[in-house]
Amino acid sequence: MTLHANCYICGAPVENVDHIVRNCLIASLIWRQSSLPVSLNLSQDDNMITWAGKNLHNYTLMGYGVVWSTLFAFTCWFLWKWRNKKIFDPGFVFPSNPNYIILLAAADWQHVNTDLAHKPIRSPATLSWQYPAAGVTKINTDGCRSG
Ligand SMILES: [Zn+2]
Repeated sequence: MTLHANCYICGAPVENVDHIVRNCLIASLIWRQSSLPVSLNLSQDDNMITWAGKNLHNYTLMGYGVVWSTLFAFTCWFLWKWRNKKIFDPGFVFPSNPNYIILLAAADWQHVNTDLAHKPIRSPATLSWQYPAAGVTKINTDGCRSG
């Protein structure tokens, strides 16, 4: 947020979280162009907390296998990121394909986290150091023991 109460992007009189991630000109455009599940909408019937909760608990499968809750979170994050870039980086231009950029970032994140969930659990190795024999000099290393 800036020192001015008005929204830097659209000039609305109040710039709060609800405005930034849901009602600002850019936000509403991105939401309308997104593949918003039918059960969700942008109506103002829900307050910000209820609206976010409904979206974060919606697991509709979207493009590239991304669930809506992840796409929702990434959309909010990109809205915040691009907004700040617009305010603090005079050369920044909003991307022409924001929803695609958001979808790819969410897909990357989900892919990495899905892979991590299927990796075997590592077993802890106890490393220790023992004094060398008298008259022997021992050099400590970084603890690498198998490579
Ligand atoms: Zn605005």
